[in-house]
Amino acid sequence: MSTALVVGAGVNGAAIARELAGRGFKVTLAEQYAPGSVRSASGGDTRLLRAAHGEAAWYTALAVRARTLWLELQEETGTRIWEPTGLAWFARRDDGFEARSLPALAAAGVPHEWLAPAAAAQLFPSLAVDDLHAVLFEPEAGVLHARRATQLLAEDAERRGARRLAERISPEGAPEADVVVWACGAWLPALFPGLVPVTVERRDVFFLGGDAAWAGTPGWVEYDAGFYGHGDVGGLGVKVAPDHPSPQVEPDALERSPLPERERQARDYAARRFPALAGAPLLGARVCQYDLTPDTHFLVDRHPERESWWLVGGGSGHGFKHGPALAELVADCIDGTRAPEPFHALGPRTGDAGLRTGI
Ligand SMILES: Cc1cc2nc3c(=O)[nH]c(=O)nc-3n(C[C@H](O)[C@H](O)[C@H](O)COP(=O)(O)OP(=O)(O)OC[C@H]3O[C@@H](n4cnc5c(N)ncnc54)[C@H](O)[C@@H]3O)c2cc1C
Repeated sequence: MSTALVVGAGVNGAAIARELAGRGFKVTLAEQYAPGSVRSASGGDTRLLRAAHGEAAWYTALAVRARTLWLELQEETGTRIWEPTGLAWFARRDDGFEARSLPALAAAGVPHEWLAPAAAAQLFPSLAVDDLHAVLFEPEAGVLHARRATQLLAEDAERRGARRLAERISPEGAPEADVVVWACGAWLPALFPGLVPVTVERRDVFFLGGDAAWAGTPGWVEYDAGFYGHGDVGGLGVKVAPDHPSPQVEPDALERSPLPERERQARDYAARRFPALAGAPLLGARVCQYDLTPDTHFLVDRHPERESWWLVGGGSGHGFKHGPALAELVADCIDGTRAPEPFHALGPRTGDAGLRTGI
C-alpha cells in the first residue's frame, strides 16, 4: 500500500486526504492547529459556491462537479453543510464579468437567468437597482457552512482510514511517505520561499442584523465594486464583505480584529445597495487571509526537486467551493491518470487577476 502525507487540513488538504484514503492510500493528515481552525481560510463560517467564472469555463466545470460532491457528502454524512439560496451577480454593464460568464454557463448546462433590474429587486427584501444594467441569477448556487464542511471532510478522511497528526511539519523534517502533498494555504510561501507564487493579504467580513426577511435570500456578488455576501444563513446575520486589497500579512501573527475602515466600507455599501440595512447593527465580524496568486489561478504542481512532493493552494479568495473537485484532480495527478494544468504551474504568472472580483 502506498503512503501519503497530506500537510494542512483546510478544505484542500482535508479533501485530498479523504480522496487518497478512498483510493487505498495509507494517509496521514497533519495539521498544526485544528481542521477548520479560524486561522485557516477554510475556517470561515460561510463560503459562496457559484458556477460563473467569466470566460474561464474550466472553473465553471470544476464548480459544477464540486457542487455534486458537496451534496453527496451532505447526504452521506447526514450533516447540513449546504444552503440552496441561489446567487445574484449585480451587473453594472452589458460586457462585464457577468455577461462574459454566460457562454460557459450555457455550455455546461448550468441553469441561469439574465434578469432586468426591476425583476431582480424581487429577490431581496430591499435592493437598489438604479445603477444596475442587469442581474445574472444562478438558482443552483448557494452557501456552504465552510468550517463545518472542512471538519466533516477531515472526519470522513479518518473514517476512510486516514490517521490524524497534530503537528507543524517543515520541509526539512517531513516524515517519509511515498507522496507528500503540501496543502498549506497562506503558509505555503514561508515554507517554500521564492518558489511559490503566492502573496498573503487580509480580508474583513461583517455580519449585519437585518430582520427575518433576510433569512435565506440569495448570495450576491458585485464584481465591479469588489463586494459580496449573502442573507442571514444559520442566524449569523447578513454577510457583507469588502474584497479590497491590503498590505501583506503573516497568518500566525495576524490579529483578528476587524479594521474600522473596512467596517465603514461594508456599512456604506450595505446602506447603498440594500437600503433596508442602513443603520443595521453589527452582529459579528471575521478576519481571514487570502493566499493570492498573481492571476488568481490555483497552484497544483510538483516540487521541482522532490518528484513525489505536490504543492497545492493559491485559492486566491475563491478556492473553497472547488475543494472536493480539486482533490479529485490532485489525486488523479498523483495516480498519473491526469496531468496537472499548465495554468496551475509554479513559476511566473502573467494573466489578469479576475476570477474572484474585479478589485
Ligand atoms: C474572507 C474570505 C472569504 C472567502 N470567500 C470565499 C467564497 O465565498 N467562496 C470560495 O469558494 N472561496 C472563498 N474564499 C477562499 C477559500 O476560503 C480558500 O481558497 C480556501 O479555504 C483555501 O483552502 P486551503 O485548504 O488551501 O487553505 P487553508 O484553509 O488556509 O488551510 C491550510 C491549512 O494548513 C495548515 N498548515 C499550514 N502549514 C502547515 C504546516 N507546516 N504543518 C501543518 N499544518 C499546516 C493550516 O493551519 C491550515 O489549517 C474566501 C477566503 C477568505 C479568507
